[in-house]
Amino acid sequence: MEYDSIIIGMGVAGISAAIYAKRAGNNVLMIEKMRPGGILNIIDNIENYPGFKSISGPDLSYQLFEQVTSLEIPYKIEEVIDISLEGNLKIVKTNKATYKATNILIATGRSPILLGLPNEEKLVGKGISTCALCDGSLYQGKEVAVVGGGNSALQEALYLSKIVKKVYLIHRREEFRGEENLVEKIKNQENIEIIYNSQVTELQEENGVLNKIVLNDEKTLEISALFIYIGYAPKTDFAKNLGITNPVGYIEVNENFETKVEGIYAAGDIIIKKVYQIVTAAAEGATAAIRFSRKKTTNKLTKTE
Ligand code: NAP
Repeated sequence: MEYDSIIIGMGVAGISAAIYAKRAGNNVLMIEKMRPGGILNIIDNIENYPGFKSISGPDLSYQLFEQVTSLEIPYKIEEVIDISLEGNLKIVKTNKATYKATNILIATGRSPILLGLPNEEKLVGKGISTCALCDGSLYQGKEVAVVGGGNSALQEALYLSKIVKKVYLIHRREEFRGEENLVEKIKNQENIEIIYNSQVTELQEENGVLNKIVLNDEKTLEISALFIYIGYAPKTDFAKNLGITNPVGYIEVNENFETKVEGIYAAGDIIIKKVYQIVTAAAEGATAAIRFSRKKTTNKLTKTE
């Protein structure tokens, strides 16, 4: 197979880029490790994406995916493990095959950060979660805690409050980072108790399942689950050899979403920028695709199995 462009990541930025690239006549391939939609799959409700007063993340994700299939954009569910250069061509190695393209767009997004407590990783799925939408229903009628003070923590605490008996919202400062309208909703929700100026310092378990958390003032909360929303880390390990990431893994791009390597673009949550929103990711993917579609070359591309 020959590709003008390979788009890595089927979240909003990647799919937006693929739509523009395909419509511009590019021979484009999308590669996704897990499932189309990326982080949308763990967002329960979106109220700030134009065209939808309210839509669930999985529903928006499905609509994006339908657009990919209706445009007949080819995609592979494979994990990219390395990108290298061969003259003007970019070589994308996955866990199953190797592909070549003139242009690459990296739009792999970010994954949730954990607190870094000793027994935390082994309790993921056993009382610790980073996805209220996926796991919230397991805790109907129970008491849970959410940690974080950004939009994600606020939004997911609200979502959980409609399912569980009580939500403790634990934030390390006195002011929330999230939007005022969400803060207002949180304050008006009777079964959410906000615990300001507080950090989780210990996770206690019974029979391998989380049952208590200890806060820095020694207060102990008996809860059935802890939902962690303290931010996200970029997923760019496979791109480290290219020298386009900063020390914490974010990619630096110019106004056309070009990295310092000719023909390698990046968009969405993995780039260094000020605003991390669905609508900005869509715009960035589109801008990058318009740019590389205009610079399209006639290089012949080959796929090596
Ligand atoms: P975020 O905005 O980076 O907020 C992370 C929160 O976690 C902050 O309140 C931070 O506290 C806290 N935190 C960080 N490390 C911590 C630690 N070790 N222990 C305890 N607390 C810790 O992350 P986010 O809420 O996931 O949002 C990410 C981006 O997506 C943002 O740009 C956000 O606006 C966007 N987003 C938008 C929407 C929406 O528009 N509705 C929804 C979700 C996300 P400090 O405040 O003290 O730093």
